[in-house]
Amino acid sequence: MWRATVLTIFPEMFPGPLALSLAGKALGSGLWALDMVDIRAHAGDKHHTVDDTPAGGGPGMVMKADVLARAIDASPADGRPRLLMSPRGAPLTQARIAALAKGDGAVVICGRYEGIDERLIAARGLEEVSVGDYVLSGGEIAALALIDACVRLLPGVMGKEASGAEESFADGLLEYPQYTRPAVFEGQPIPDVLTGGDHSKVKAWRRAEAERLTRERRPDLWAAYSAKAARKPDKP
Ligand code: SAH
Repeated sequence: MWRATVLTIFPEMFPGPLALSLAGKALGSGLWALDMVDIRAHAGDKHHTVDDTPAGGGPGMVMKADVLARAIDASPADGRPRLLMSPRGAPLTQARIAALAKGDGAVVICGRYEGIDERLIAARGLEEVSVGDYVLSGGEIAALALIDACVRLLPGVMGKEASGAEESFADGLLEYPQYTRPAVFEGQPIPDVLTGGDHSKVKAWRRAEAERLTRERRPDLWAAYSAKAARKPDKP
């Protein structure tokens, strides 16, 4: 079973929103598992200290390598990737999420304060991953985002109507626009092609809209998509 093990000084933040909706139902029915390791329980002193002042000075505190190492070593060494939530990490992509969802799960380490002692990252082979170019106050919300994105791809979690195959990023494009009833909203009709019943026209319109939106909004994705399409001209 796909398993997320989260190392945090705030285990009470989990499952949090993952107890609700699709992820929560799947957790309840045993389609995936979640366990938390309280980093503080691995502190060696009577004050349960997990942080200390930065070497070289400066503001804030740094999470201690020895405490985190004990917390990591106490978690099962079963080959799952160890991911450190970090704004310096590789930005998470749907491709990385899909690869993680295909595996056995992940051990997710949540930083706090100014981050964690650099020596621990190499010593325990942590892979740094980021949820975007902004700074959160801790890794927990990033961990929730990562786990949620993985869990919805696990077999049996999403209905088959939402297979994920046509979603944003699935083929390198943003998703086409969606509409539902009422047929006219504040004077604006649903585009005719979507109500005309011609499935091949619908498909062509959706592809064209997905391409237009990607070109307009995400030149980075568009460049990658165009390069790929140029390599396989028969399969755009
Ligand atoms: N001083 C650090 C920021 C620390 S923020 C720096 O400038 O890089 C505290 C913790 O929040 C980090 O250790 C990390 O676990 C988490 N965090 C903050 N922003 C994040 C992001 N964009 N992606 C993933 N984790 C993040």
